[in-house]
Order: sequence, then C-alpha cells, then structure tokens
Amino acid sequence: MAKKQFKAESKRLLEMMINSIYTQREIFLRELISNSSDAIDKMYYKALTDESLVFNKEDYYIKLSADKANRTLTITDTGIGMSKEELENNLGVIAKSGSLAFKKENESKDGHNIIGQFGVGFYAAFMVADVVTVISKAQGSDEAFKWESKGADGYTIVPAEKDSVGTEITLKIKENTEDDNYDEYLEEYRLKAIVKKYSDFIRYPIKMDTKSQRLKEDSEDEFEEYQEEQTVNSMVPIWRKNKSELTQEDYDNFYAEKRYGFDKPLKHIHISADGAVVYQAILFIPESTPFDYYTKEYEKGLELYSNGVLIMNKCSDLLPDYFGFVKGMVDSEDLSLNISREMLQHDRQLTLIAKNIKNKIKSQLQSLLKDEREKYEKFYNAFGRQLKFGVYNEYGMHKDVLQDLLMFTSSKEKKLVTLDEYVAAMPEDQKYIYYASGPSIERIEKLPQTEMVSDKGYEILYFTDDIDEFAIKMLMTYKEKEFKSVSSGDLGIEPDAEDKQTEEEENDNKALFESMKGILADKVKNVRASKRLKSHPVCLSTEGEVTIEMEKILKAMPN
Ligand code: ADP
Ligand code: MG
Repeated sequence: MAKKQFKAESKRLLEMMINSIYTQREIFLRELISNSSDAIDKMYYKALTDESLVFNKEDYYIKLSADKANRTLTITDTGIGMSKEELENNLGVIAKSGSLAFKKENESKDGHNIIGQFGVGFYAAFMVADVVTVISKAQGSDEAFKWESKGADGYTIVPAEKDSVGTEITLKIKENTEDDNYDEYLEEYRLKAIVKKYSDFIRYPIKMDTKSQRLKEDSEDEFEEYQEEQTVNSMVPIWRKNKSELTQEDYDNFYAEKRYGFDKPLKHIHISADGAVVYQAILFIPESTPFDYYTKEYEKGLELYSNGVLIMNKCSDLLPDYFGFVKGMVDSEDLSLNISREMLQHDRQLTLIAKNIKNKIKSQLQSLLKDEREKYEKFYNAFGRQLKFGVYNEYGMHKDVLQDLLMFTSSKEKKLVTLDEYVAAMPEDQKYIYYASGPSIERIEKLPQTEMVSDKGYEILYFTDDIDEFAIKMLMTYKEKEFKSVSSGDLGIEPDAEDKQTEEEENDNKALFESMKGILADKVKNVRASKRLKSHPVCLSTEGEVTIEMEKILKAMPN
C-alpha cells in the first residue's frame, strides 16, 4: 500500500507555534538578530573558500530602525541574503532551517558560530507584528524579491528593488490592546535594552539611529535634537577575551553591569574549558550576603549563553545548592537547546559543565583560604552558614566536598580555625575534637563543662550557629578524630589521681544524691559526683548522641 504523507494544517501550526513556543514576546528581536548574524557568518564562511569574495569586517552590520509614525520596526543586515527559492523554502516552510543545512554542508569548516537550527525563530516576528515584509537580495544575484505575510493566511513573493546584497525585514507593529502594549517595540530605549539583554555579544555591530540633544551652534542655552548612529552591542564578550588582557576593574564592571550584586565581588573565576565539553565562564564570589539569601525568595543560578546568545537568566542546574551564592555566566557552543531556545533538551553537557564548575569553585575557595585568609574569612562570615547546611543536607552526601572549607571559632585565641588547623594543633594525648554549643561565645565560655577540657590544654570549637552541631554530627569524624561535645558524659580524658576522691565523694553523698534525684525526678536522669568541675559547683551533662543544645533546637522546630 502506498504510504501517505502527513498533512499539517499550516495555519494552525503557525498560530500554535507563535503563541506557545516562547514565554516572552521580546525574544522576537533576539531571533531576527540571530538570523542576521547567521547570514553575515555565512558570507564570512563563503569568503573563506571563494577567492572572488573579500570579507571586510567593516561592511558587515545589522541595523535597527523604528518609525513611530508608521508603526514599523526594520531590521536590516548585509548578510548573504535570500534568493526567491530560499525565501520560498526557508520562510515559506515552517521548521525548515537553511542555517542548519548550511552548518551540515560546511561541517568541516569552523561553522559553529551559526545560531539557527530549528527553522522557527523567524515566525516569532508575528508575536508583535501584523504584517512582516522581507526584501532580500542574495549574494551573487542581481535580482531582489519581496516576501510578505500577515501570518496565518500565507505569503506572497514578488520581485523588488534593492541595491545591495542582504536582507531587510520590516515589521508592522501591532496596535496596543487593553492587555498588551506593543508601542514599546518602537521605543529606542526599549529596543536597546532588549539588544543588550539577549544579543549583546553578537559578533557584528548592531546599529541604531539614536536621538540626542546638543547645544545649538553659537548658542549657550538653546538645544537641538540630532540623530546619530550608535552601535548598541558590545560584540566581544569579556569571557572570550584573554585573561591577561583583563584587569580587576573589567571584572568588577562586568559584575556591576550585569547587576549580579550591589557589592564588589570578593573574587572572580574566569574559566575557558577546552576538554570534554567546551565552555567559557565568569563566576563571582560575592562579598556580602544578599538580603534575601537565606529565604525562599532567593533563586540560585547562572546565566546561560549558547554561542553568545542569552538562553536562560538563571540556570539553577549549573550550581549545587551549597554554592548557591555564586554569581556569573556560562557560554557554551555544545548545548542542545529545545525549540524555543529557552531550555536545554537533555543535560549531559550541562551535567559535565556543572561538575566542572563545582570543582573550580571549590578549588578557588581553597586557594582563597590558603593565600588570602582575610578575604576567606569575610566570605565565610557571609556564606559559611550555607556551607554548613551543605554538609548537613542530603544526608551528608556532599560532606567530602565541603569539610575542608568549614571554620569555627576556637577557644584558644577566639579566632576562626579550620578543622585541619584544629587537628594539626592537637596535643598527642588528645583523642577527640571538642566542641561546645551555645547561643553566643560569651555564654559558651561561662559553661562549667568547658573547664575540664580547657584545663587539659585542649582547644574547644565554639558552635554558635543552630546548624553547627547538626553539620558536625553528619561529618562524624574529621581526619579520623571523632567530635565530642564538652557536655557529653564521657569526655575521654584520662582520669587523674583525684579520681579516687570522686568515688569517695560519690559514696559519702549517696543519700544526698538520692534525694536530689527524687526532687528532680522528671528533669534529670541521674545525679553524680563529677570529675570535670573546677570552679563551678554543678553542671548538666548528657548521655548519648543528642546534646542539650540540639535538643533545644529540635524542640523549637515545627513538626
Ligand atoms: P533558524 O534560524 O533556526 O534556521 P528561522 O525561522 O529563524 O530558523 O529562519 C529560517 C531560515 O531562514 C534560516 O535558516 C535562514 O536560512 C533563513 N533566514 C532567515 N533570516 C534570514 C536573513 N536575515 N538573511 C538570510 N537568511 C535568513
Ligand atoms: Mg533563526
């Protein structure tokens, strides 16, 4: 039996596409500019093999002009243009991508800058326009053609006049409705902002005539308006530049421009990876905690670019929660995007990049700790809590990544020490890593339980954060040393000679202890003579895993 071809209701298909692929209308401009950039790229690749063609970079640009009176927005490029057949095939057939075909034909060449692949981006123009008119002249031809369409009811192609090779796309911008504003796509400032947001790193200039004011000649207070052609995009992304060309100020400016934060970044990480997955990234460790950092409102994530075009504002998969404070961007040419180019199709590459980034952040923090202690402590004061949560969360599966980054205030000099430093300073006879929990350092220092440990000359880590003890319980040990609360029953400290005395005291006061136990029956489990007290008459201690401080926190938690 003869196979039948599927028929598609192209009208419906177009409508569906226009209205459901994209979440934001403004991306129509990103799509049209990307097409123009692809068209110029094609000229460039052609010139590589065709000796009769010379590629002078100055001759290649994209231009936007808005005409408010006529409600038109025009995007002009000096790219490779389209012949009549190409207009028919590429703009008349939905999901047909001339650019993908070009990429495939030229695979051997370095064609990876070409952005297009799905053959649908162009139609995004209909999200903002009632009529789209394309006048194009293909390279190598002396005829131009005009393609025109009102969207769903088809298109026409007729011969047209055009002097130079390239394409000119005119959008008749829709009238405002009660719910939707379209006027904004005729506003200079808005267009500029959209270009900056999505297309700032297109490698060819995106020009715009912009109106400015200047003093009239021979006048001191009279102004006149004048037009000036301006390049709106910055073209070369800072992350593609060589690290050696960039100064600290360049990175700081980038951080401010991108509004990653209002502070100055503490440290930047510039990555140019060429391994299993190719990507560039600039990451920042902020200096201060964003006001909403420890709330549900805070959204972690990095900006994700594909070939210099912004795809996602906050790609959360690129950062583990425990490094959620990191800001910055990633650009890769190896991503498989979905059709709207707003999301990724499958995330093998992304997983690789994320893993790579995680390791870089960790090693950067480690070197900060090693070489710039002051900065690290500043960082730790801002985000240390996050690291401790990172140790605790997900059943401690990330503890190995994080344990060397932890710090706690130590009893010795009331300074922050790492676990490594603590263990290195332990006297030979010390068995455990001691800690004491409390609401503040002052309060902890008054705890009678700390006395015996301190008197032995052992350091104590002060836990003042709710999460501290929980995190440490997750670690269990560090360098094979167990953690021990100073309030736990067995401190593991060698009994001294006075021990006998304690035993005697225990026997002598048996009656007293028994009656105390009776009175405190529902409050304590036992009353004993203690070996650990020096200047305090009495202290509380616990048996088992959960300390008094933890119990308080657990009781305060909602069930
Ligand atoms: P994609 O860019 O994913 O291929 P589009 O729908 O954006 O899909 O564009 C379809 C095709 O139309 C492109 O692949 C390209 O061949 C052609 N095209 C679109 N805009 C231009 C342009 N400005 N200059 C030359 N060709 C273009
Ligand atoms: Mg496209």
